Amino acid sequence: MSDPRNAFTVDLEEWFHVCGVAALGPAHWDRLPSRVDLTTRRVLDLLDRAQVRATFFIVGWVAERYPHLVGEVLSAGHEVGSHSHTHQHVFTMGVDGFRTDLRQSLRALTAAGAPAIAHFRAPEWSINDRSLWALNTLVEEGVQVDASMAPLKMVGSVTYPRYPHIRRTPSGPITEVPPLVADRLGQVMPMGWGWGLRMSSPRRVLRTIDAMNRSGHPAVLTVHPWELDPNPPRVRLPARLHFAHYFRLNGFQDRLRVILESIRFGRISDIAIDSTTLGS
Ligand SMILES: [Zn+2]
Repeated sequence: MSDPRNAFTVDLEEWFHVCGVAALGPAHWDRLPSRVDLTTRRVLDLLDRAQVRATFFIVGWVAERYPHLVGEVLSAGHEVGSHSHTHQHVFTMGVDGFRTDLRQSLRALTAAGAPAIAHFRAPEWSINDRSLWALNTLVEEGVQVDASMAPLKMVGSVTYPRYPHIRRTPSGPITEVPPLVADRLGQVMPMGWGWGLRMSSPRRVLRTIDAMNRSGHPAVLTVHPWELDPNPPRVRLPARLHFAHYFRLNGFQDRLRVILESIRFGRISDIAIDSTTLGS
């Protein structure tokens, strides 16, 4: 597959990696039933059948406990990035806390066999106006591509560019690769991930990707292994998170297969980056 126009990404984490829910905090993780091995295998199978190579943002905590998963992702030809170590909102961590967590994740990923990590995605799109300093920390720690800034009000800002671009930081430039959004009924919705991707017909998603491509930009899609769990553990979550986690999981794998097999996807490092540069 050469020159794919769009990127497919996976945030490789456990079903309980939810930010800001006390009952699912890191202190409980070792006691909660693990689903990540089974569900990651489903994602790998799906991508293998569609002959898609993707970018996997892996939580360091997962890489530490299941290093063979990092190996399987790499040997299937996918690219590995960091999805932090302990899956917390970046804007709650402060510069030092973020740096410590990032370094921990990079160590865990390379110890599991990954080459030097150049890609990062923050948990729940948590690099936004409250945490733009994190881009500078990423550059200082050797990360070249960030995929954490969603052009969506709830987690980011509708003013953020919808296409890959370069951001300036005091320590140097970083490429920012946002996820796919769409305008719908006067609102901006997450067309490339989460409830927006799960509720939309493959036809609608493909039409949005096509419009993006016709304007000269790639689309970036994201899934989590837990979205393909045939028997997902259920926990009580605040309403917004409940919707984000459980809404229309039914049939998602089949809809995703149609999307993956209809157009070309690749890794983030395979897509074209606009040379537009923004300060941050
Ligand atoms: Zn996550």
